[in-house]
Amino acid sequence: MNSCLFCEIVAGKIPCEQVHSDENFLAFKDISPAAPCHILVIPKRHISALTDLDPSMVDLSGQLLVLAAQIAAQQNLDSDGYRFVINCGDDGGQTVGHLHLHILGGRSLNWPPG
Ligand code: AMP
Ligand code: ZN
Repeated sequence: MNSCLFCEIVAGKIPCEQVHSDENFLAFKDISPAAPCHILVIPKRHISALTDLDPSMVDLSGQLLVLAAQIAAQQNLDSDGYRFVINCGDDGGQTVGHLHLHILGGRSLNWPPG
């Protein structure tokens, strides 16, 4: 595939502040944090966006959610709460074309988003 920023991070070609790594997922700190805790959780295989998910990816999608909740707990966000965000496409504000889940916490977050 053509160059993808997050695939390059997975490949170790671009550094990241890693929080978690296993066979299927990588989690790292967002380079431009929007909250005191801002972590991105990504599948290591390239999936462009939520629009590319299909039924064969049900396990992977569920694992992503469970892992992100575990990371939020490890970051001590459980007691005060936190938010998961997955932006999709232009209107959703997606800027990197590799599926990623944002974990945001450490401050009170506004709702609805702007
Ligand atoms: P989104 O706008 O949902 O596509 O989110 C992309 C996120 O990736 C943004 O919050 C960026 O700050 C973040 N980001 C971009 N480049 C890097 C990088 N090299 N390392 C870590 N986070 C990054
Ligand atoms: Zn990618």
